[in-house]
Amino acid sequence: MISRFAPSTTGEAHPGTLLAALLVWLDARSRGGRALLRLEDLDVTRTRAAWAAQLVEACDWLGLAWDAVVVQSDRRAAHEAALDAFAAAGQLYPCTCSRAARAGGRRAPDGSWAYDNTCRDRALPAAGWRATPDALRVRLDDDRVELIDDGGLDLSQTPAHELGDPVVRRRDGVIAYQLAVVVDDGDAGITDVIRGRDIAPSTATQVMLQRLLGLPTPRYRHHFLLLEPARAGASSEADHAGACKLAKLHGSLPFSQLRARHDGPALCGILAHAAGQLAAPAPCAPLDLVAAFDWQRVPTRDRVARWTEHGLAITDDAAR
Ligand SMILES: [Zn+2]
Repeated sequence: MISRFAPSTTGEAHPGTLLAALLVWLDARSRGGRALLRLEDLDVTRTRAAWAAQLVEACDWLGLAWDAVVVQSDRRAAHEAALDAFAAAGQLYPCTCSRAARAGGRRAPDGSWAYDNTCRDRALPAAGWRATPDALRVRLDDDRVELIDDGGLDLSQTPAHELGDPVVRRRDGVIAYQLAVVVDDGDAGITDVIRGRDIAPSTATQVMLQRLLGLPTPRYRHHFLLLEPARAGASSEADHAGACKLAKLHGSLPFSQLRARHDGPALCGILAHAAGQLAAPAPCAPLDLVAAFDWQRVPTRDRVARWTEHGLAITDDAAR
């Protein structure tokens, strides 16, 4: 069993990042498996080397040791080989449609605007996909993907229709997430993908890309998220607690402040308690949690992280 924690390095680590890392690590260690850290740094417009370095440091500080570290930007040749394979199979096409043109159309399961595969019949330049400045998409099979993850979440979709064919190389040349994640998981022999529920709607698209590339489909499990009270004027991605608008964690609880307020064992205890593995948020090391780790005790509802006078608190709603 090989698993991975694959954060994008587009900001400071925060409690949600560290919770996800802890769950991946505990799942692998409790099953006698391997776990690698993959730093997803392809988006050159948003990633920073300092944030990648901080993620490595934050995991170390928490007590999480990885069996290997993969830097995604080192994997360009493998990503390009996959694009070559799609091109050779006639499945790659250039797309000039703008996001603005899709706005107001059909909503996709991930909340974005669905793509209607408008450019499917457009051909690549005679000189190949590298010669076009346009975004590149992969024509998916129109089949339905039937999939229920290990937590019982039904991820079944017809991704070619519900989301539309995925962008695999952006207009700015960046290899898109959907392609990189599939190629990198395949090459690393990943058997189990543990990740936050926000990514669940992408799973069927990734399964379809695996099938086109002849890669096996790993087991999936999607866990709860840590949320924060939405800032005034911010667009809310979730409304779990009635009148209180909640949003995905962004910059309000950065690792630099967590480390100033807590030591590693204290934060590990808070996260383990939030994940249902400890009756109280008592200091501990990740290794202490391995023997008794149990997904049955991990809550399914998203939880709220915020500062109190004692430091980080994680509760069921923002009012407590
Ligand atoms: Zn298009």
